[in-house]
Amino acid sequence: MRVLWMKKEDLREFLESSKQFGELWGPVQKGEVYVYDKIDDFSRLILEPKRTLLPVKKLIHPPEFNILRYEGETYKTELENIPRRVVYGVPPCDIHGLLILDDLFRRYYPDPYYITRRERTAILGVSFCTPTEGCLCKSMGTDVVQEGFDLFFSDLKDFYLVWVGSSLGDDMVKVRPDLFNNNITRKHLDKFMECKKERDEKFTKSIDMTVIPDIMELSYDSPVWEEIGERCLECGACTMVCPTCNCYNVVDEPSISGFTGERRRYWDCCIFTEYSLVAGGDNFRATRADRLKLWYTHKLKSFGYSGKPACVGCGRCIDTCPVDINVLSVVRGLLGGKEKEGKS
Ligand code: SF4
Ligand code: SF4
Repeated sequence: MRVLWMKKEDLREFLESSKQFGELWGPVQKGEVYVYDKIDDFSRLILEPKRTLLPVKKLIHPPEFNILRYEGETYKTELENIPRRVVYGVPPCDIHGLLILDDLFRRYYPDPYYITRRERTAILGVSFCTPTEGCLCKSMGTDVVQEGFDLFFSDLKDFYLVWVGSSLGDDMVKVRPDLFNNNITRKHLDKFMECKKERDEKFTKSIDMTVIPDIMELSYDSPVWEEIGERCLECGACTMVCPTCNCYNVVDEPSISGFTGERRRYWDCCIFTEYSLVAGGDNFRATRADRLKLWYTHKLKSFGYSGKPACVGCGRCIDTCPVDINVLSVVRGLLGGKEKEGKS
């Protein structure tokens, strides 16, 4: 991978030039949180690494969209209307989330809607973020990232190290070669290590992930599942904010004549009762305890084709769940309240 460096003050100019590759999106402040939005006014763009309310998955696997429109017996997909975008400000944990979704949506049953959006979206990652109270990326090994982006900006206070991760990223650099410098010296490496160490010392919580998949295996009949099942409000917020949740439903919405209509795709949620309801009225996961056990099995033990835990440690479930059900509290519960807070 090619690594360059860029002066801090040149980033805005570079992002301006990147607009020829698609609409520029990035984090903006909305009340007390940060959200991805289209950037028409540069003064709104937050350049520092921040965790957004919803992960970048909302732009690649959107909460709702049209798959196709039909008229009589003909139909037209919406693929050609998917815009090209350049998304700045994606933290490493969310890029790891995309890598997990890439595997799911690309490996055996390629999903053209996901793949087209992914290919038309340039990902410009950024670090080192300041960990929030719930950040667990260091425990999950997702605080650094080597793939899944087009460019990655390591914010080293006075300058950026810029990692070129794809040919598209290389093309973006070539538009303004005057803003990048090839000459990486010992000074750059030392600053990188200094900033990483400084960031690493700010983590306040950790999970020992070397044992958690085994703990999950041994906890199938743990009373913890019943206890959190009783508490859960079935609001679905944890699945909305999680970078690796991907369930969806497909609904036909005909016009009143029935002759024309749309086929739409919406995020679904495996914690909802109806999710596992099948024809005839059976429900394979009838209790919230069963559904939460499934969710945490995916996050902490094994998910998808890789068979690895799908939690990327973003901490969003910790900040979001109104009744304190999250990766940390579940692990604590399974360990009998013994998982201590502390640095990883
Ligand atoms: S399980 Fe929680 S901490 Fe892990 S990736 Fe999902 S939202 Fe983030
Ligand atoms: S956010 Fe909490 S209360 Fe809501 S569905 Fe998830 S676990 Fe249940």
